[in-house]
Amino acid sequence: MPYKDKDERLSKSRAYSKAYYQKNKERLRKKQQCYLSVRENYAKHAAALERKRKRNLEEIRKVKLAYGCCSPNCCWEGDFVGCDLDLHHLDSSEKNNSVSKMTTLSMKNLCSEINKCVVLCAVCHRRFHEKHFALSEQSLCKVTISGTSLIIG
Ligand SMILES: [Zn+2]
Ligand SMILES: [Zn+2]
Repeated sequence: MPYKDKDERLSKSRAYSKAYYQKNKERLRKKQQCYLSVRENYAKHAAALERKRKRNLEEIRKVKLAYGCCSPNCCWEGDFVGCDLDLHHLDSSEKNNSVSKMTTLSMKNLCSEINKCVVLCAVCHRRFHEKHFALSEQSLCKVTISGTSLIIG
């Protein structure tokens, strides 16, 4: 009687699972709770990172627009929007933070990282890398922290 055996085995294994659950209810519940709290923590952590990323991107955008292109012979016409402008690290050996990495920095570190950069428009940035002109340290950004944001000077 294979079917009967199968049913019997199934109900036995169900009974065993139930017994196992009853016996370990408290431990299983705690395990699940722990899992959820970690997930919750993770969500909080991810949300905080996202806020920081947005804040840093906004600060970078404000700084870029405040400076505009710092090339001595920029021929850009019209106003800039944020994406027209790049932060170029003047000392390439210090380029330990690309803009995408800058978004995870604290305000203090973001400030010091921006001050290693010169703002260039997309065209001048390309031309600079093709060695069409030179830049001096005088063109470096000079931002400071004021409250929760960066200001120039
Ligand atoms: Zn330019
Ligand atoms: Zn560059």
